[in-house]
Amino acid sequence: MRLTRYFLPTIKETPSEAQIVSHRLMLRAGMIRQASAGIYSWLPLGYNVLRKIEAIVHEEQQRAGAIPVLMPTIQSADLWRQSGRYDAYGPEMLRIEDRGGREMLYGPTNEEQITEIAKAGIKSYRDLPVNLYHIQWKFRDEVRPRFGVMRGREFLMKDAYSFDIDKEAAQASYNRMFVSYLRTFERLGLKAIPMRAESGPIGGDMAHEFLILADTGESEVFLDRSLAELTLGDRGSDYWDAATMQGIKDEWTSSYARTEDEHDQAVFEAEVPADRRITARGIEVGHIFYFGTKYSEPFGAKVVNAEGQSVPLEGGSYGIGVSRLVGGIIEASHDDKGIIWPESVAPFEVAVVNLKQGDAETDAACESLYERLGAMGLDVLYDDRNERAGGKFATVDLIGCPWKAVVGPRGLKEGTIELANRRTGEAENLTPDALVNRLAEQFGHA
Ligand code: ATP
Ligand code: MG
Repeated sequence: MRLTRYFLPTIKETPSEAQIVSHRLMLRAGMIRQASAGIYSWLPLGYNVLRKIEAIVHEEQQRAGAIPVLMPTIQSADLWRQSGRYDAYGPEMLRIEDRGGREMLYGPTNEEQITEIAKAGIKSYRDLPVNLYHIQWKFRDEVRPRFGVMRGREFLMKDAYSFDIDKEAAQASYNRMFVSYLRTFERLGLKAIPMRAESGPIGGDMAHEFLILADTGESEVFLDRSLAELTLGDRGSDYWDAATMQGIKDEWTSSYARTEDEHDQAVFEAEVPADRRITARGIEVGHIFYFGTKYSEPFGAKVVNAEGQSVPLEGGSYGIGVSRLVGGIIEASHDDKGIIWPESVAPFEVAVVNLKQGDAETDAACESLYERLGAMGLDVLYDDRNERAGGKFATVDLIGCPWKAVVGPRGLKEGTIELANRRTGEAENLTPDALVNRLAEQFGHA
């Protein structure tokens, strides 16, 4: 993308309405624009990041066996009356009436909708397990929408719903999602720690919230430091190997990690040596739980088991805050110049900065580099504006491009272009060929 043909409405001043760094940077980098309280338009740069996060979430959900669907945003009140949640949900639910006076709502979540679908489509234990998911906009009329996309009223969520014949099978479905979340957040460049969450009426250990640690997080968390040091890497990539999945889940859940709702100081001190106790703040980016027959019972969603009996489906649901993640990643990765995107979600992996726009040789070198990097499949931003170098650097640093190729007459005289890394600040002068090879290697296109 040539910057002169793009739409990147950056702002220099620090927006006064934004209380946390990610919100400030998203506004300054021209990623979003508020439409009304807690409701945002996604501008090109922000939308680009949102789609990259979505793509990773889609890939990892499907790798773990979840099947994509798309349910509507608008649901009927009657559907929610069947579970009793129409009245229970309260003022967070946006209630709407259609022209015929029928009561509708903008979905805050989809358990009812998916249970109705499962009831109609799943008849026998042979049809199971099934895990259906979508990435769809939700609306919750939050009391205090704030922090930009972190606590919006309209927000994008990935929600998956598993259906199984019995509790044991449901446990296996839960474990697949658990491991898939570890992998998803790792690919997003995040350290998200599963913490024990309130498990509701069913009890047990099948409810976890995934939180990233950040001072601006809304939840207080208590954990064993050793959990923050675990990494999944490419372990456990066979989701249908139940023992491996259980082993990974056990490894991540055997040390203390709880949010304030579940926290017990005495247990914390008994289980975790003082030098490993962390008390911090966290941002909830995912939430998974097993709810058994809570929805299948009222909906009469039953299937025939191997013994020929009709039994209610066992269910679980698995959410990821896709739009919240954009802010969450920035909270976890920025400096005083701006955003530092992990390569996996960077809106542009490389910025080509032309130090002397209009100089024939410099322009030609930029064009050639822009072309070659683009041909490798990289998203490249070519800053071809007639602007001073300082202004160009400020822009590409603000919007967080992981790599910056600086092309100027002085370097070109030596036959080189400077390649700088946004995170480390390290820079080296390379010939155009060496630079292209270096990035090809970096992004696995070699
Ligand atoms: P919170 O405790 O932050 O209000 P929740 O527990 O009500 O969230 P869930 O129903 O678990 O939310 O939804 C799944 C995920 O959707 C959450 O883990 C979070 O990442 C995201 N999410 C929830 N509410 C919002 C919101 N208002 N704005 C942005 N993302 C949200
Ligand atoms: Mg939650």
